[in-house]
Amino acid sequence: MTDNIQGKVVVITGASSGNGEATARHLAERGAIVVLGARRKERIEKLAADLTAAGHKAMAIETDVTDREQVSRLVDTAVESFGRIDVLLNNAGLMPLAPMERRKVDEWDTMIDVNLKGTLYGIAAALPHMQAKKSGHIINVSSVYGHKLGPDATVYCATKFGVRALSEGLRQEMTPYNIRTTVISPGAVATELLDRIGEQDIREQTQDFVSKIAIPAESFARMVAFAVNEPEDVDVNEILFRPTAQPI
Ligand code: NDP
Repeated sequence: MTDNIQGKVVVITGASSGNGEATARHLAERGAIVVLGARRKERIEKLAADLTAAGHKAMAIETDVTDREQVSRLVDTAVESFGRIDVLLNNAGLMPLAPMERRKVDEWDTMIDVNLKGTLYGIAAALPHMQAKKSGHIINVSSVYGHKLGPDATVYCATKFGVRALSEGLRQEMTPYNIRTTVISPGAVATELLDRIGEQDIREQTQDFVSKIAIPAESFARMVAFAVNEPEDVDVNEILFRPTAQPI
């Protein structure tokens, strides 16, 4: 079977933990060159060093996706170092759940800045390179909560519904440029996502529910690999997956 992962330059935001880290490992093991972005510099540097020591190709670049210049630098450095960007995985995200009536306005701002604007900054940084080559693949991360509303998740859902909307719009606009667009919507995956829920009662009740059913981050990595590995004339537009045990 043809391998369309080997040798691809893949830029991953939010590569310091969870889904991003697992995807970096999985794709590097399958021969991709991975360029890792996140704010926790030590984490991505250690991951890049581990992958390099294992004979893979990896580079770490400290990146805060709320800073447009830093996102451009992440993508541009990947292109300068390896000649191109084949895949951008817009994965950085956070989910500080809380009921609207608690008015956690700073958290609303952060979710919009990271989940939505961070994704847009990634797209803006990657498009010129991909359009020039008439080749590329942008993978955005939504959620089951990008398909349906959940308790205490109104603003998070708004950002993840938004990611699906912009992914489909991007897909339609990019067909003349041969650029593929995929949106991946996971259910409960065991990562550090819930640790950043600021409201203790919500964090504990969500952890209680999720810990019983969550599947490993490698499941997400395999979904990414599936989309990337398809031949260039096949665009896997949407992947929605959940733990088999997740009822909602
Ligand atoms: P983690 O908390 O383990 O990972 C989140 C990643 O996002 C970290 O690497 C973090 O890096 C990064 N991040 C957060 N803020 C920023 C920022 N400002 N700039 C750059 N990076 C940032 O959670 P997951 O792996 O679960 O989350 C990955 C994606 O998966 C998110 O988009 C999330 O919404 C989505 N998702 C996850 C689900 C799950 O059940 N786990 C379900 C549905 C969707 P750092 O802090 O070092 O910057």
